[in-house]
Amino acid sequence: MRVLVTGGAGFIGSHFVRTLLEDGQPGLEGAAVTVLDSLSYAGNRANLPAAHPRLEFVRGDILDLPLLLDLLPGHDAVVHFAAESHVDRSIDDANVFVRTNAEGSQNVFEACRRTGVERVVHVSTDEVYGSIDSGSWTEREPLLPNSPYAASKAASDLIARAYWRTHGLDLSITRCSNNYGPYQHTEKLIPLFVTNLIEGSPLPLYGDGANVREWLHVDDHCRAIALVLRKGAAGEVYNVGGGNERTNREIAELLVELGGADTSAIRRVADRLGHDLRYALDDTKIREELGYAPRVPFEQGLADTFAWYRDHPAWWKPLKGSGRA
Ligand code: NAD
Repeated sequence: MRVLVTGGAGFIGSHFVRTLLEDGQPGLEGAAVTVLDSLSYAGNRANLPAAHPRLEFVRGDILDLPLLLDLLPGHDAVVHFAAESHVDRSIDDANVFVRTNAEGSQNVFEACRRTGVERVVHVSTDEVYGSIDSGSWTEREPLLPNSPYAASKAASDLIARAYWRTHGLDLSITRCSNNYGPYQHTEKLIPLFVTNLIEGSPLPLYGDGANVREWLHVDDHCRAIALVLRKGAAGEVYNVGGGNERTNREIAELLVELGGADTSAIRRVADRLGHDLRYALDDTKIREELGYAPRVPFEQGLADTFAWYRDHPAWWKPLKGSGRA
């Protein structure tokens, strides 16, 4: 199988590619991988092996339709990760989010259709559902995105659905909760707090810290995506949860403990505009239909992630102080 991975130099995409190259995804052993990534501020070529006989790296933009049409022939499948992914940036400037996430995704699906790619997975997020005070969302929940990031991802989900329904593109959508793990940009909550703790800086906690997120290790997310790629049905959406609900304050306290600091390191800062209170997914469908189950226990995954950042300052130090990190 030959797979093209958009956004494969980012946090989750690069994890997916590394596991493919290590033959770590059952049923996809031996797959050849083309990574298409524009290397935005969030992408890093060093997240991937410098050279590998089954890896081709192409620096390019999903907004470039001629490039996609040129690249895609010969590929059996596309896994589409490329996106602008940081909510805070979308509050500052939504334009690039709409262009990359909505228009760029449409380009990817259009190029897949025109070149006859047999299978497509569109990687989306739980944030498209909005915010939920109690209970959890199934895949049938209406989309009520609140941030410009979530709205641009919801747009891409609807465009994906239209390409399945109108053109018969064999496409599935995954909607995952918050990921954590190695190689995540230091602008995101867990790497920001971990690297601040390592540097002895305070942890900026939004508002009262009561916002609840469901956390999933990136390795579990990538196994779910590989399963959906192999076994998912066309036109279907699969929620990928994990069940580890934590308030942001609880995350901060767990990390303070791992870092051997005390809670005086936690500093309350002005809340994010329109900050969603709680996300929670019902992922019964992927568990029952595709046999998925997360494997990484949260406390273990968090401790391993802390250790990874402690052991890899050369990877994250250049990101600190650049933009939001
Ligand atoms: P990321 O920001 O770490 O990586 C995004 C990658 O896309 C980068 O390598 C970047 O260079 C590339 N990219 C951006 N614009 C591009 C363009 N126009 N053309 C080509 N490449 C471009 O993001 P991530 O956290 O790895 O997220 C990957 C996907 O998973 C996104 O679609 C995101 O919405 C989704 N997702 C993320 C999470 C999470 O917790 N991080 C949770 C659920 C879903």
